[in-house]
Amino acid sequence: MKYSPMVLILALLLGCEQKKPTGWIDADRIMHREAKDWVSLGGDYKEQHYSPLNKINIKTVSQLGFAWEYDARSPIGRVPRGLEATPIVVDGIMYTSGAWGFVYALDAKTGKEIWKYNPKVDASYVRKACCDAVNRGVAVWEGYVYVGTLDGYLVCLDGKTGTELWRKDTFVRRDVDYTITSPPQVAGNIVMIGNSGAEFGVRGYITAYDLKSGEAQWRFFIVPGDPKNGFENEAMEMASKTWDPNSDWEAGGGGTSWGQSAYDPELNLLYVGTGNSSPYPIWFRSPSGGDNLFLASILAINPDNGKLIWHYQTTPGEIWDYTATMNIVLADLEIGGTTRKVLMQAPKNGFFYVLDRATGELLSAEKFSRVNWASHVDMKTGRPVLTEHGQWYKDEPKLVFPSLGGAHGWPPMSFNPGTGLVYIPERVEPMVYTATKTYSWMPDRDNTGFDYSQMYKYKQVINQVKEAEDTITTESLLAWNPITGKAVWKISDGAPNGGTLSTPELVFQGTRTGYLNVYDAKTGEKLKELFTGTGIMAGATTYEIDGEQYVAVMAGYGGAPTDYFPQDAALHQYQNNGRIICFKLNGGETPLPPRTVKIPTPEPPDMKINSALVDRGSVLYWDYCEVCHGGFGEPPPNSTWPEGHMSQHPDLSKMPKDVHKVFKEIVLGGIFSSAGMASFSRSLKEEDVEAIHHYLVKIQQDAYDQLKKAAGD
Ligand code: CA
Repeated sequence: MKYSPMVLILALLLGCEQKKPTGWIDADRIMHREAKDWVSLGGDYKEQHYSPLNKINIKTVSQLGFAWEYDARSPIGRVPRGLEATPIVVDGIMYTSGAWGFVYALDAKTGKEIWKYNPKVDASYVRKACCDAVNRGVAVWEGYVYVGTLDGYLVCLDGKTGTELWRKDTFVRRDVDYTITSPPQVAGNIVMIGNSGAEFGVRGYITAYDLKSGEAQWRFFIVPGDPKNGFENEAMEMASKTWDPNSDWEAGGGGTSWGQSAYDPELNLLYVGTGNSSPYPIWFRSPSGGDNLFLASILAINPDNGKLIWHYQTTPGEIWDYTATMNIVLADLEIGGTTRKVLMQAPKNGFFYVLDRATGELLSAEKFSRVNWASHVDMKTGRPVLTEHGQWYKDEPKLVFPSLGGAHGWPPMSFNPGTGLVYIPERVEPMVYTATKTYSWMPDRDNTGFDYSQMYKYKQVINQVKEAEDTITTESLLAWNPITGKAVWKISDGAPNGGTLSTPELVFQGTRTGYLNVYDAKTGEKLKELFTGTGIMAGATTYEIDGEQYVAVMAGYGGAPTDYFPQDAALHQYQNNGRIICFKLNGGETPLPPRTVKIPTPEPPDMKINSALVDRGSVLYWDYCEVCHGGFGEPPPNSTWPEGHMSQHPDLSKMPKDVHKVFKEIVLGGIFSSAGMASFSRSLKEEDVEAIHHYLVKIQQDAYDQLKKAAGD
């Protein structure tokens, strides 16, 4: 129900408080959140992932247990997909998104479904997604719910019924590999959406739409196009001066924006983090170098007209996949005796940035993780000072911290205004950066120009290894003081890599091993662990209904940097079924998912194998299929991909006979595209597919023979 202006004026005159319709979020509610609610992905407009609710506290947390769960399995295809969104809760109604852009509205007290929205995506778009068919959340505004779909639409739903009111095609072209995994952001009178795809070679941009009509209002490209075609605006003209005029414009440049943005209603500024380059090596992209604005930057934009107000580039001339799309947190901090309105971000590059969010002035940039590409950030120029490790890896590979997975990925960090600490899912990983020898953009495959096969081969850079720790990976929950620029405590046990939630005394964090852990916000002492049997990557949310505090989290594993499933991941033991799990005090035991079942190799088809085709097929398999389906043993010589990883996608060495019969129709004809297996007819020929098939049948025959031998046949 909506109120007419007359009713609103009357209500104001009479001095009575206007009651908002149930589930209603507006400027007032986002600025002055009631403690019981969680009205944006990060809680309120400051996006701190913090709630003042404190019934679950140091003393009571031992009583935390299971309240309810909701089945959020992906109904498209049979591959479990990662869940990454933080649920929004208002007046006891939970709104959140799952894989592909599904949206769920639930009774937040019971988990009972109110409605579910199926975005009816073109599932073949999952081939274009570097890191699974994930979705990072919805925006709820004045009775509407907004979501981006993997295949590029911004959709507006009726908040009461889930009925689709409008859908807008946000893609400027569909012949390159754009996808949407990002959440929409409401700012003033618009809803903004970005996109993903820099690994495949696209030109990033964001678009703003009218909140009600869905009419496009403005578009801001993040990197310039070929200057021969002119510039969209002054910002693009300025940015183009930092690119070689003879850049590889076909490769798109990258810069895609897919993370959690923020909006300050008082300053009327929209804050957007931008992504990595495309391709990574600048000598392929912009041969003479340059800063390549606005890659890996934080942009402040006037949402009324899409004009750039200020920008700060974290990684000039980006060559390491150092996206700055990690969640942006707003806070008012006491710095040098004055209160500063700041914006904080811990991007992949390992520096923690504090910026004045009105002006973009750099207030602090300290290493929060192991970083060797730069020694420090020069506070006068705002630029990182590169070390020998940070030089171009054109002629020799470089050992670099952090890795392309970043010192901090998309799982949200949180800020507790009481302790003054930021809680970061932090990761230390060294990587050997090696470029491919040559580069040209090719359809249907990774276009980063990065030689993945070398990334963990530390031997080849042994001269750059100076300490024992130089080749070691660790993951931690890190408590960071943004004012002093120093770590306060760090916990490195139990795979703490999920997003964090803060409450006055506690920090909540999920793990891929299937736990939701609760820590003392001051000391980092682990106070409680709840085993769910499902890997948790998303940040949790907390809210109150009828005087009871709840903590809810989306559980479901998948997506980079977790597409490579470590042995400790819960999915090796339990089926990786997407679920929303809710906890409360005096709750019960969390039900565990069914056990994972290993499928034995079925009898292979009786096919005469051609060994030349097997060799050719193995190369093609690694170039086009391995990234999703996983690999078998060592990669072929000269492959730019590493040895095989585990995968949730169908194991192609275990295809039943009826699938073998239609192998060509699957790969070229796209007959399984509605399950997420795209047609590769644009990039593969019939003889290529035959070669891949010979390679797979050979592997299946060998495995089957071994099985029979083991069984004593
Ligand atoms: Ca990337």
